[in-house]
Amino acid sequence: MTTAPELPTTPTVILFDWNGTVVLDADRARHALNDVLTRRDLPTLDPAAFRREFHLPMSEMFDRLDVTDGAAAETEWNNIIAQHPTTAREGIETLRGLQSSGVRLGVVSAAFSHAVHADIDGLGLDGFWDSVDAPATDKLTTLRRRRGAEPQAIYLGDTPYDMGCAIAAGYTPVGVDRGYIPVDELTAAGATAIITTFDELPALLVDPTSHLNQYSPPTKETTMSTALRMWPLDGAIMNADKSAVHFGDSGPIKMPLPTFLIEHEQGLVLIDTGLNPAAWDAAGPGAIYEAHAVFPFECPPGNRVDEQIVKAGFSVDDVSHVIISHTHFDHTGGLYLFPNAEIIIGEAELEYAYNPIPFYAFFFGTVDLDKVPDTAWRKITGDLDLFGDGSIQILLTPGHTPGQLTTLVKLPNRNFIIVGDAAHTHTNMAGIPCPVDLDTNAAYYSIERIKEIAARENADIWVVHDAEQWQEMAYTGTPYN
Ligand SMILES: [Zn+2]
Repeated sequence: MTTAPELPTTPTVILFDWNGTVVLDADRARHALNDVLTRRDLPTLDPAAFRREFHLPMSEMFDRLDVTDGAAAETEWNNIIAQHPTTAREGIETLRGLQSSGVRLGVVSAAFSHAVHADIDGLGLDGFWDSVDAPATDKLTTLRRRRGAEPQAIYLGDTPYDMGCAIAAGYTPVGVDRGYIPVDELTAAGATAIITTFDELPALLVDPTSHLNQYSPPTKETTMSTALRMWPLDGAIMNADKSAVHFGDSGPIKMPLPTFLIEHEQGLVLIDTGLNPAAWDAAGPGAIYEAHAVFPFECPPGNRVDEQIVKAGFSVDDVSHVIISHTHFDHTGGLYLFPNAEIIIGEAELEYAYNPIPFYAFFFGTVDLDKVPDTAWRKITGDLDLFGDGSIQILLTPGHTPGQLTTLVKLPNRNFIIVGDAAHTHTNMAGIPCPVDLDTNAAYYSIERIKEIAARENADIWVVHDAEQWQEMAYTGTPYN
């Protein structure tokens, strides 16, 4: 039997590094650094080189990288960071709970104030920090100043520098994974625990070393699992002009509107729900979709999402989880078929769908979203490992819309990244922006992120609206496994 850990009755202080610790922005940091290097005609860093080279204070890193104007470079890096949104580590609600139970929370970051505050505002993380020290150009001095008289003080960070400053200033040094620096270097630098989400903090307050033995990347690897099978499900077809999807292009384009069904030991997962099955009725798609006038639909017989699920050997009632890549109507039409499923959606996506700028309003399937019971939503603000085994990893990839989700699916023999509408075609993947993306910058960085994860995970990128890829990879009667 497990019981909730009891919090210490004495006041406790927990301070956090920002980049790589509160926000999961290693990709953003690398792109920003590469921009700085490119402007100086210096070679850029791949992800492995970035993890090797990143170093605080930044002035020392810039020296090593042959940047001769380190101070200017650091300002540029911070300005780039401030312009690009990122995601927060999971467990923010736990932080709010800790703060309301009397734990003092603060930020001690070497990043510049405007960069940290841009993230705080963008992620809605304001309102619960007791202090924000940024830039803390000398973390050791700042940590000592903030130490206070509390018997227990913890500093969380993602670099060996963070761990060293924490120890020297009398804090329990706690490392985080998925930051800028590999966790084994943090452990070597003295981290007494490594955590993945902030949900692990209450247990740490009871026993600061409680996560040292539990966390071990090699062991974790062996508990990783895969999903069993995946069926790409055929859907309607949307006719459009290329000007809607490729900047500066024109001419007709056909886009498939498929969905994806994934069988896992713990559930049956559907990615997106396509057009409303009523579009297949005799009256045709124009009867329910105003958009039909602009983007004429074809609804081939047998391609309704419910029929396709049956064809794969299941019923709609078997679907336990639905991942909505985003709230455009060509992805939400079948939502009403799954009243008992958990519906996973980006929190920012759901909010934006009801408050879009007027020009884009008709793209959003709020009439479909209204049919989802309130209790069915699982709103996420960052990445989500759906079953905790690495097999289905939902990635926040904003740009096309604010809460666009991309899904990494690991199967026994093959991995896929299903990109939702982070890109509409492989032309977008190659760098031509999509004019209907709400945020072109964010879309660019999301695509870069997808490419990096695909390379790391040896995954095929499946751009779902790309007709050529659909021709090549669509359902042939045998699921992928
Ligand atoms: Zn779409």
